[in-house]
Amino acid sequence: MLAYTYVERGKFELQEKQKPALQDDRDAIIRVTLASICTSDLHIKHGSVPRAVPGVTVGHEMVGVVEAVGPAVAAVKPGDRVAVNVETFCGECFFCKHGYVNNCTDPNGGWALGCRIDGGQAEYVRVPYADQGLNRIPANVSDRQALLVGDVLATGFWAVRISEIGPEDTVLIIGAGPTGICTLLCALLKRPARVIVCEKDAARLRFVREHYPEVLTVEPVHALEFVRANSSHGGADVVLEAAGAEETFRLAWKCARPNAVVTIVALYNGSQILPLPEMYGKNLTFKTGGVDGCDCGEILELVSQGKLDTEPLITHTYPLKEIAAAYDLFENRRDGVMKVAIE
Ligand SMILES: [Zn+2]
Ligand SMILES: [Zn+2]
Repeated sequence: MLAYTYVERGKFELQEKQKPALQDDRDAIIRVTLASICTSDLHIKHGSVPRAVPGVTVGHEMVGVVEAVGPAVAAVKPGDRVAVNVETFCGECFFCKHGYVNNCTDPNGGWALGCRIDGGQAEYVRVPYADQGLNRIPANVSDRQALLVGDVLATGFWAVRISEIGPEDTVLIIGAGPTGICTLLCALLKRPARVIVCEKDAARLRFVREHYPEVLTVEPVHALEFVRANSSHGGADVVLEAAGAEETFRLAWKCARPNAVVTIVALYNGSQILPLPEMYGKNLTFKTGGVDGCDCGEILELVSQGKLDTEPLITHTYPLKEIAAAYDLFENRRDGVMKVAIE
């Protein structure tokens, strides 16, 4: 089968590989029908994910059809359409039992697919702990509608879940890339008084205005005064930082009102500075970390009910054979690309 492979730093290549086989009683083999490219794939390509193993098939956002299951798999059977979770988790350790599946202590736990074990930018993928890592897609939900559930949408859902958004709140979301938009969609489910999206890219701002007219938009240079003018207590009650730059980190705490929650959704390339003397008395609560993708069943139900729709984010579609061109488009952000579907 064809599999897009991390060869060495800076180099991915479409290679012919053996179709994966069941290795454990709890494994499933999935025939991938759609996959996507994530910014984390680019991090692997550029060598900033030391855990990534050269030779591994990349890709951790995909949907497909169950081809085979091990004897201990109970939740899915061959023929089921499924969304694959970015995280591999045992469901049994202390962290899994508390819903912190990203911190699963199993040797395979956490982000393994497309990083430490073969992922889904391929024709087939083996998913360990299939009962935890797969969710059946409801009949009225298409593959495209389910494509982002296991990773980027789960990220937004989790970030919103820990952010304590209330009905009176002004919520500021920094960054309107795929993660920022997924965070926005999940924040809107909480029906806060106001949502402001801050983004510097004109095309992405336009995307937000076109698709979510109820949301206020602002560029970073005007964000501080705009948020103050459009909130009830001198700043945002909740800030979700999904952009991942030094300036946006600073903007996140500066735009927050005293005693606000600041949730860091983004993955940064380097350390950030908390200037505690400047913040003293502001009493902020920071929440950080990787996605705990344990709500995918609930997310698929919301998609099925029409309450979450990420299809507009999928701006381009390429066949697997042309995946290198898809990466080139995605990495260079050409043609207004948000997310690419690989079929
Ligand atoms: Zn990802
Ligand atoms: Zn676990």
